[in-house]
Amino acid sequence: MTGKKRILSGMRPTGPLHLGNLLGALDNWVRMQDDYDCFYFIADWHALTSDYENTGHISKYIREMMIDWLSVGLTPAKSTLFVQSLVKEHAELYLLLSMITPVPWLERNPTYKDQIVQLSNKDLSTFGFLGYPVLQAADIIMYRPAGVPVGVDQVPHVEITREIARRFNFLYGNIFPEPEAMLTRTPKILGFDRRKMSKSYNNAIFLSDSPGQIGAKVAQMITDPQRARKSDPGDPDVCNVFSFHKIFTDGETVKDIDEQCRSAGIGCVECKKIMAANLIKALEPVREKRHYYESRPAEVEQIITEGSAKARQVALDTMERVRKAIKI
Ligand code: SF4
Repeated sequence: MTGKKRILSGMRPTGPLHLGNLLGALDNWVRMQDDYDCFYFIADWHALTSDYENTGHISKYIREMMIDWLSVGLTPAKSTLFVQSLVKEHAELYLLLSMITPVPWLERNPTYKDQIVQLSNKDLSTFGFLGYPVLQAADIIMYRPAGVPVGVDQVPHVEITREIARRFNFLYGNIFPEPEAMLTRTPKILGFDRRKMSKSYNNAIFLSDSPGQIGAKVAQMITDPQRARKSDPGDPDVCNVFSFHKIFTDGETVKDIDEQCRSAGIGCVECKKIMAANLIKALEPVREKRHYYESRPAEVEQIITEGSAKARQVALDTMERVRKAIKI
């Protein structure tokens, strides 16, 4: 992997992955495999920061997430795919970084403030939840990456990571490069109720959904809210089904649907059927690979073990430098 810039990104194993995850992150991760030395990890300790009371499902979600990753085209032949808790050095670096991170940096974290309000049903007044950006900083700088592919809402986390790396370098010597946030433009799609696609809103199309489940979910999708009858002209620009068409339907047909919708030449039921068929077809290779890996749990386990061992080699090297720099 020499000569390529290293990048790193991770996901919390909080449930099955959906189309929003695919289009918003995974498609980009897959593309980056050819140009970068990619480290992708399943952040299982981070699942504990908000769900520490309910841990029974995490191990199953880790396997499921790895299967989703492999199904969309991430591969150990090109990337280092690993599980955070299998590289215990993350915990050591987290502890050391926590010694130098001022608490006000954590208290002003916008996600922290937002989640305390949003997740009022959970007690998040824990040390672990306040400190999760420090763990995230440890996860990232451990591998000394040049960049971190993230969505816009994650940029403040990369900023804290850079500040922590800078502080470490100032105190102990230059060990850590400051990683850049790498933003990519991703197509916007909403859940079938027009809210952000999310497991917690129960409005997501999962990568593991069967063709029947996809068809049923697409049938429920809210279209142009102003269009009450088939004889009313519609506006594709405000229709979520049309946003999906732009991704999964060929250009010629999209143009045709655009015209037919505006002139009431096509009904929403038919339009959804066309889109559902294209979406099911686009996800066919993902479903095929999913079946392959689902029936080979030992192979998935081996990918996790070997990827984590490979990541650990880098982590061991980093920790040696860190301990030397701190003189302990
Ligand atoms: S015809 Fe298609 S694009 Fe137009 S409003 Fe209905 S679902 Fe949306």
